[in-house]
Amino acid sequence: MPPSIRNLIVVLGDQLDIQSTVFDHFQPDRDRIWLAEVEREATHVWCHKQRLVFFFSAMRHFRDELRERGWTVEYHELQADPGLDRGKSFGEILEPDLKRLHPERVIMVAPGDWRVREELSAIEKVSRLPFEYRPDRHFFIEPDQFAQWAAGRKGLVLENFYRWMRKEFGILLEPDGQPVGGSWNFDHDNREPFPKSGPPPAPRKSFPPDRLTREVSAMVAERFASHPGKLDGFEWPVTRDQARAALDDFIQQRLPAFGRYQDAMWTGEAVLHHSRLSAPMNLKLLSPREAVDAAISALQAGQAPLNSVEAFVRQILGWREFVRGVYWLQMPRYASLNELGCEPDRNVPQSFWTGETDMNCVREAMRSVVDGAWAHHIHRLMVLGLYAQLLGVHPYRFHEWHMAMYADAIDWVSLPNTLGMSQFGDGGIMATKPYCASGNYIHKMSNYCRGCRYDYRTATGADACPMTTLYWDFLDRHRARLVQNGRMLYQIRNLERKDAAAMQDIRAAAKRVREAEFPC
Ligand code: FAD
Ligand code: SF4
Repeated sequence: MPPSIRNLIVVLGDQLDIQSTVFDHFQPDRDRIWLAEVEREATHVWCHKQRLVFFFSAMRHFRDELRERGWTVEYHELQADPGLDRGKSFGEILEPDLKRLHPERVIMVAPGDWRVREELSAIEKVSRLPFEYRPDRHFFIEPDQFAQWAAGRKGLVLENFYRWMRKEFGILLEPDGQPVGGSWNFDHDNREPFPKSGPPPAPRKSFPPDRLTREVSAMVAERFASHPGKLDGFEWPVTRDQARAALDDFIQQRLPAFGRYQDAMWTGEAVLHHSRLSAPMNLKLLSPREAVDAAISALQAGQAPLNSVEAFVRQILGWREFVRGVYWLQMPRYASLNELGCEPDRNVPQSFWTGETDMNCVREAMRSVVDGAWAHHIHRLMVLGLYAQLLGVHPYRFHEWHMAMYADAIDWVSLPNTLGMSQFGDGGIMATKPYCASGNYIHKMSNYCRGCRYDYRTATGADACPMTTLYWDFLDRHRARLVQNGRMLYQIRNLERKDAAAMQDIRAAAKRVREAEFPC
C-alpha cells in the first residue's frame, strides 16, 4: 500500500503565491500539491491567446519551482490534441483525482471567482472530504474586514476606505497620524495631458518567452487557434523573479512621472508610465505589499515625488482592495445589475475583437489589447468602456468581453470595474456618476483626434465623431434618471441648451452609428 496522503493542496491558476498559507506546515513526505490547466476555464469566455499563454506558462513555471523544492505536484497539462480532456470542467478533473488520491483533507485558499467557489462547494459535497479554506495572505484585508468597514455606511466611498486603510496599515503617515505632505490625495497635481512634443521617455523591461513559454504558445496556437488576439510579442513576467524585476524596473524608470501622466494617452504608446503589474499581481506572483513598500522606499530615497507615490499606493491599497471588498459584499446579486436597462443581448462591437475601425481612439486602445492582452486604465475607462456605455452594451456582456481579452482579468476585479465603475450598471456603488464624456475629453487627454477621420467637435454630419454623437444621445436617453444625480446637472443643463431640431438630428445620427456597429 502506498503511504496515504495527508493534505492535498489545491492551487488555482491565479494563486501562484509561494508565501500562501496553504504551504504553512507543508510536509513533503505526507502532502501533495494539485494544479490543473482546465479547458472549460479557457473557453467559458472566448479568451485571448496571450491570456491563455500567460496563465498556463506561469502555472508550469510555478509547478517546476515547487518540484525543485522536492515537493510532489500532481499537474494536468493541456496538450495540443484535446484527446480525452476536451471540454472538461474543473470539477470533472478534480473529482476523479480526489477518488484516486483520497487525501485526508483538501486545503486551499478561496477562489477569486464566485462561479468557481460554487463549483468547489459542489465538489466538496460529492467527495465527502473535509475542505479547509485558509486565509488569503496576499491581500491587505479579507472580505469580512471590508464588510465590517462597510456595515452601516450609506454609501461605499473609495476615498473614505482609502484613508481608513492608510491609518490601519500606517502607510504614508506622519508620526502624529496626519498624511505625509499634508494631504491624503494629490490628484490636483496629477492627470496632465502630454505637451505637444509628446510623452517623456518611459523605458521598460520586457520578458521574452523562454523554452516553457514557447511550448505553451505552440500548444495554444494549435488548440485555441480560433481565439482572438496575437501571440507574437508576448513579454509578460511569468515567474516570481521576473515579476519582482518588473516591479524594480517600474519603480526606477516610470514611477517618477506616473502620477502626473496617469490619464494621458498618445499615438503608438501603449504603456507609457504605467506599471503593467496588474497581471503578475493578480496571479499572486507579486505581492501588493511589496509593490507599496517599493514605492515608499523610492519616495524616502528621493527617487520619486510624493504625488506619484501616493497615486500608486492609492491604486493598490485603495482601489484594488476596495473592488475586491465590493465584489464579495455584493455577489452574486451584483452580476445581474443593469441600472441603465441595457438590452440583455447587446454585445460589444466587432472592433472590440479585431481593433479594426476608423475611430482612431478605439483603434489605438484596441491595438494594445489585441497585441498585448492589456490596456492602461484610461484606455479601458475613457475610450473602450466609454464607447461601450454610450452604445448601450449590456454591462455583463462588457465584463465577459473584458474577461476574455485582458491578461489581468479575474472575476473579483473585472466585474466591479466593468459592470460598476465603467458601465454604471450598479447604479452608483463603484462610482457616484456615470463616466460619460464626449470626444472633447479624448481630444484633451491625447493626440488621437488630430489624426482621426472624424471631428471630435461635431455630433452630426459626415465627419461627426461617434463619441460626441452618442454622448448627447446618452444624456438624452437617460435624462430622467441622470437629472436626479446632482453631479450630472452641469452636463444635463448643457444638453437642455440644444433645441428640438438639433436633438432630432443627434438622435438620427446616433441611430445610424448603432446600426453600423450592430448591423443585424
Ligand atoms: P497602474 O496604472 O500601474 O496601477 C497600479 C496598480 O494599481 C495596478 O497594477 C492594479 O493592481 C491597481 N489598480 C489600479 N486601479 C485599479 C482598479 N480600478 N481596480 C483594481 N486595481 C487597480 N484591473 C485589474 O487588475 N483587472 C481587471 O480585470 C481590471 N478591469 C478593469 C476594467 C475596466 C473597465 C477599468 C476601467 C479598469 C479595470 N482594472 C482592472 C483597473 C485598472 O485599469 C488596471 O488595474 C490597470 O490598468 C492595470 O495596469 P497597470 O498594472 O499598469 O496599472
Ligand atoms: Fe475618437 Fe472622435 Fe477623437 Fe476620432 S475624433 S479619435 S472617434 S474622439
